[in-house]
Amino acid sequence: MGDGLRHWLEDWQRAGVTDLPPAAPLPIASTPLAESPVDAAAADPPPANEITSTVPDGSRNRPNDAAARLQVLAEEVAGCVRCPELAATRTQTVFGTGDPNASVLMLGEAPGADEDRTGEPFVGRAGQLLTKILEACGWSREDVYICNVLRCRPPGNRNPSSEEAANCRGWLDGQIAAVQPDWIICWGSVPAKELLATKKAIGKLRKQLFDHEYEGGSARVLCTYHPSYLLRNPPAKKDVWDDLKFLLAEMGRPVPSGRG
Ligand code: URA
Repeated sequence: MGDGLRHWLEDWQRAGVTDLPPAAPLPIASTPLAESPVDAAAADPPPANEITSTVPDGSRNRPNDAAARLQVLAEEVAGCVRCPELAATRTQTVFGTGDPNASVLMLGEAPGADEDRTGEPFVGRAGQLLTKILEACGWSREDVYICNVLRCRPPGNRNPSSEEAANCRGWLDGQIAAVQPDWIICWGSVPAKELLATKKAIGKLRKQLFDHEYEGGSARVLCTYHPSYLLRNPPAKKDVWDDLKFLLAEMGRPVPSGRG
C-alpha cells in the first residue's frame, strides 16, 4: 500500500471510520478496446441493439467501439461554443478519462483551474481525494470512467448554470452511451440533480440507488457528497464511506465489515 493511500485511510479512521477496505485492488471486468480507435471510428456504428461485445465469458454486454466513439466526441467538444462565456474563458475543454468500457462511471460537476490547465478531470485537490477514495474501494482511476456535467471551467469555479448544464447535456449523454456503464456515481448535488432531474438535496439522495436509462442500456445511480465538500468538512468522509460500502454490496463486491 502506498503512503498516500495509508494516509488517506488513517485520515478516515480519525473521521470515525473503523473498518478498512481490502488493500488488494479488485479489478473491474472490461472488454478489450477496439483494435484502432481511428479504424473503428471510420466504420458505421452498429445499431444500439447489436453493439454487443465478444467477451469470452459473456459477463459483459459492451459496445466494442466505445474508445472510438469517445474520441470522436472529444474532438467535437473541443470546438464547442454553445456557452459563449465558457468558450471564451477556457484554456481547453475537459472531456473524460479512464476505461472507455468501464462498468462504473464517476460524474463530477465541472473542471476547475487544474483541470482547465491539464485537460483532465479531477486532477486538483478534490481529484486527488477522489483518487484515494477510489483506491480505498479497490479501483484505480484507469478502472473507471471519469467525467463531469460541464466540459468547460466556469470562471471562478462558480456553479454551472442550468443553461450551461443543458447545453452540455448532449456531450454527457454521448459519453454515457459510449461507455455503457452499469453503475454511475454522482459526486455532489450538481451531477445528481442533472442526471436524475430532481430538485432534492444531496443528503436526501444518499444511500439508495436510482435507475438511469440511456441510449443502449441503463445504469444504477448512487449519489454522495462531492470530494470538495469532504475537503471542507472531513467528518462527512464517514458518510461517503457508508454510501460506497452500500454500493459495493449492491455490486456484489467484497465489503469491509463493521460500522460505516
Ligand atoms: N474537478 C472536476 O473535474 N470535477 C469536479 O467536480 C471537481 C473538480
